[in-house]
Amino acid sequence: LVVLSGVNKHFGELHVLRDIDLTVGRGEVVVVVGPSGGGKSTLCRAINRLETVDSGEIVIDGRPMPAEGRELAALRADVGMVFQSFNLFAHRTVLQNVTLGQIKVRRKDRRLAEERARELLERVGVASQVDKYPAQLSGGQQQRVAIARALAMDPKVMLFDEPTSALDPEMINEVLEVMRQLARDGMTMVVVTHEMGFARSAANRVVFMADGRIVEETTPDRFFSNPSSDRAKDFLAKIL
Ligand code: ATP
Ligand code: MG
Repeated sequence: LVVLSGVNKHFGELHVLRDIDLTVGRGEVVVVVGPSGGGKSTLCRAINRLETVDSGEIVIDGRPMPAEGRELAALRADVGMVFQSFNLFAHRTVLQNVTLGQIKVRRKDRRLAEERARELLERVGVASQVDKYPAQLSGGQQQRVAIARALAMDPKVMLFDEPTSALDPEMINEVLEVMRQLARDGMTMVVVTHEMGFARSAANRVVFMADGRIVEETTPDRFFSNPSSDRAKDFLAKIL
């Protein structure tokens, strides 16, 4: 469903993505881990063209990501993204946060958009908060609204970039549980996270990135019990 081939990206002198080849199949959950500065966020941002790339190709559901224009907006809407900082619209209510994109980008009728929003907010467990503003919610609730907002666009794939890193410990699980449920429901997901429990239990595949390269790509079982690269062994020794 998502195919990256030969993707390279520089920030000035810094080569942040080096010859990235990555395929994510439909319904697959790929967890990306690795040391800070390794290029994980840049990879996510490249997938939906929040970041341009210098070379290589990114294909979503058979269609190459165009560099710009109207087609880009349409394809980007197929790729839901959830960030570390929740990025909700501060001056809109929860319900508006989840309906705006549906109305503006997907051109849905307001009533239908609201129906869908309520259904999604129910699914992520914040249905009782629809009329509140983001600042009135806990971090975990805000992040679940952010997930509902992304889902409202009916994305083909969801990207998560450290969705729980900014959360207090007791809220991490409620967000991970929503993500686990999404995975069980068959959503195609790319998840950057330091939550190794999630990687172990929800990932079909673990991608280990360091210095802009995919150093290792394997099943969670193998990655955690028997990583093949020294770089990954080193990383795991530090975090586990
Ligand atoms: P972390 O685990 O800390 O989030 P990461 O793996 O997500 O790290 P990236 O954020 O992708 O890493 O950054 C990769 C490298 O690119 C880093 O060295 C970073 O400093 C650099 N970088 C990221 N964004 C920019 C930018 N807009 N301009 C210049 N350099 C950047
Ligand atoms: Mg990052």
